[in-house]
Amino acid sequence: MQLIKTVAGLKKELENKRKENMSIGFVPTMGALHNGHIELVKRSVTENDISVVSIFVNPTQFNDKNDLLKYPRMLDADCKLLEKTGNTFVFAPDVEEIYPEPDTRQFDFGCLACVMEGQFRPGHFNGVAQVVSRLFEIVEPDRAYFGEKDFQQSVIIREMVKQLNFNIQIVACQIVREADGLAMSSRNLRLNEVQRKNAANIFRILNESRNKKDSHSVQAVKLLVENELNLIPELKVEYFDIVDAHTLQSINNWEETGAPIGCIAVFAGDVRLIDNIKYFSPSTK
Ligand code: AMP
Repeated sequence: MQLIKTVAGLKKELENKRKENMSIGFVPTMGALHNGHIELVKRSVTENDISVVSIFVNPTQFNDKNDLLKYPRMLDADCKLLEKTGNTFVFAPDVEEIYPEPDTRQFDFGCLACVMEGQFRPGHFNGVAQVVSRLFEIVEPDRAYFGEKDFQQSVIIREMVKQLNFNIQIVACQIVREADGLAMSSRNLRLNEVQRKNAANIFRILNESRNKKDSHSVQAVKLLVENELNLIPELKVEYFDIVDAHTLQSINNWEETGAPIGCIAVFAGDVRLIDNIKYFSPSTK
């Protein structure tokens, strides 16, 4: 593990690796690393000669200033974790390194970005595309690893790669969960004891909803999930939608797509958590 803070420093190291024909894997993160991140890093380390893990809390993707201020930052602990994970460069730049000038680029992802996270966090995916494209230009990886916890993000990143003609393979990795099913997230650190305990119901109820697919309409499953979760103290559903995993558009009945996925955002107190559940087996996608 080698910590690098400047674009120039990282580019120099990677240039040398490229000269030796080494393949480069890349895992972009905002730090406060947990096992979800580590699984991405492990996969990158396995599939590439060298891996870069970026740790950068990107201001342009936060539509809520408070969320940005409260986002956990713990670079020393993150580096310690990554020391155990193999051959990695940890790239932890300041904001000025990534944005020497304000980034005014506007991306157009059509209705992939106007629903769900895009609807409730206006500008979020534009900020994600700004930072990920900038990082792709710096790292020039062969493969980049993203988690399916942020399912909509992974679809939009693939679209961005297409639009900007990056020659990068996007690898989507399964959600890693706590023992009680809660999707691992850096934001879980901000949950109090009651919120943390109750947040486990998000996955429980999503998972149970899979059994209802054969007997209930899409609309009925949506209502059930939302109502059950809203009954639990401290939890408030912001949205729950069942969409086509490719187009991300809402479906009205199960037959509309071979790949229905339920995507949810829930507030536990003031902590916003997201998760999703596939109503299909990945092999049939
Ligand atoms: P973040 O630091 O939250 O921006 O996440 C960095 C990457 O890790 C993103 O591609 C996330 O989708 C992924 N990730 C975060 N949590 C998980 C998880 N529980 N399981 C799998 N991937 C995750």
